[in-house]
Amino acid sequence: MSLDERALLASVPTGLFIGGEWRLASDNATLSVVDPATGNELLAVADATPADGLAALDAAAAAASDWAATAPRVRGEILRRTFDLLQERADDFALLMSLEMGKPLAEARGEVTYGGEFLRWFSEEAVRISGSFGSNPEGTGTIVVSKRPVGPSFLITPWNFPLAMATRKIAPALAAGCTVVVKPAELTPLTTLLFVTLLQQAGLPAGVVNVITTSSAREVSAPIISDPRLRKLSFTGSTPVGRTLLTQASENILRTSMELGGNAPFVVFEDADLARAIDGAMLAKFRNIGQACTAANRFIVHESIANEFATRITERVAALTVGRGTDGVDIGPLIDDRAVANLTELVADAVAGGATVLTGGVAIDGPGTFFAPTVISGLAADARMLREEIFGPVLGIVTFSTEEEGVALANSTEYGLVGYVFTQDLARAHRMIDLIDTGMMGINTGIVSNAAAPFGGVKQSGVGREGGAEGISEYLETKYSLIPAS
Ligand code: ADP
Repeated sequence: MSLDERALLASVPTGLFIGGEWRLASDNATLSVVDPATGNELLAVADATPADGLAALDAAAAAASDWAATAPRVRGEILRRTFDLLQERADDFALLMSLEMGKPLAEARGEVTYGGEFLRWFSEEAVRISGSFGSNPEGTGTIVVSKRPVGPSFLITPWNFPLAMATRKIAPALAAGCTVVVKPAELTPLTTLLFVTLLQQAGLPAGVVNVITTSSAREVSAPIISDPRLRKLSFTGSTPVGRTLLTQASENILRTSMELGGNAPFVVFEDADLARAIDGAMLAKFRNIGQACTAANRFIVHESIANEFATRITERVAALTVGRGTDGVDIGPLIDDRAVANLTELVADAVAGGATVLTGGVAIDGPGTFFAPTVISGLAADARMLREEIFGPVLGIVTFSTEEEGVALANSTEYGLVGYVFTQDLARAHRMIDLIDTGMMGINTGIVSNAAAPFGGVKQSGVGREGGAEGISEYLETKYSLIPAS
């Protein structure tokens, strides 16, 4: 580990952040955070107990009414100051994410920009919360519709985008006037812990944001979710966990936002600009080491161009460099052994079904959890890779002949987060927006995320939207009042 890395890690708080103070877990336990590129421990952080989780909710509940009454401009300015502070520390945050999650440093730098934009966007949205006002149809009174913060919110984030998934939830919640308990993923909690120091520096009052890190996600989360003081649950992670959380949330009839799994189709039509489709494919598949819910999961390529697509993409993929994210590589390690085992199984299943590995296809010997960037063509219709989230640098190709067939393939999944379509025919692009059943579409582009746009899915990819004008409404309740004319 370099001196810079050591110095940065020494600046990361390792406690639970509750009521504006750092504290140890109630039983003094810690959990180890490791560098997936080496398997070595980076830091040990507090491992919260269920009692610690409830203490965090106590703090959020105690701070709720003051924060809701804090002027929107003041709330917005705290977010804006946090945005500025994040820019100053951009290199530190990029390095920290690369260390704990494994992503290439350049991509981590990109995440600082993307994650920061949620702070800036919602600092601007805080002062634009508005309702409506109008006469009732009978002319006997006024209908007033106003917005109020939903209340204490529990935010559970995943490991793949340690900063952006946190700011995407924290910023709209704070802008709306909600206090929060944040539970970052146990694999990558360090970024959230460091981020909280920026909120503190920006002047955030005690108790508005509380952070608990724990290796017992279920045991610590369940009592918070069933506590009547909690009003909202926002989760980003896998569909099975989301389903469990929705069941738990039903007990308290919580407002919920669920950003769950994806199985994105990447459809390349015969009239596509192929160079552009290849660039888009590299981005949609290999960004974040393929570990994104928006990652293209199924490459559905018109049969007339499939060979050329496969040849050209294989050349690009074979040239990707693999190594520790800090070493200027294209592809870092997978998050853990389980991820490597999963990819190994998916590739074996594809090959058993008759598919051909054009490059890669194997795990790379340790230390670290690396998998060779892979291209596979000729997937059978029942290949597991077409049904399951791959979550790694493995690109599988299937072909189609008619537009109807391409659309049917794209929609043959229970997921519906994002779809990518490459065509130069404008009418066809519009048709695809109508026909492909997803919450988001990339038209001739391999990346769609933007803080100013509503991110989210349909079907089993979730409910609710993050970012855009919609993002803040997830943390607002609508209140209607009738005021009689006389
Ligand atoms: P992944 O499979 O990508 O790791 P998960 O859905 O397992 O995604 O995890 C996403 C987040 O959900 C993490 O913060 C994890 O700790 C948390 N989590 C997992 N299981 C539960 C649970 N039963 N209750 C609450 N949080 C959970």
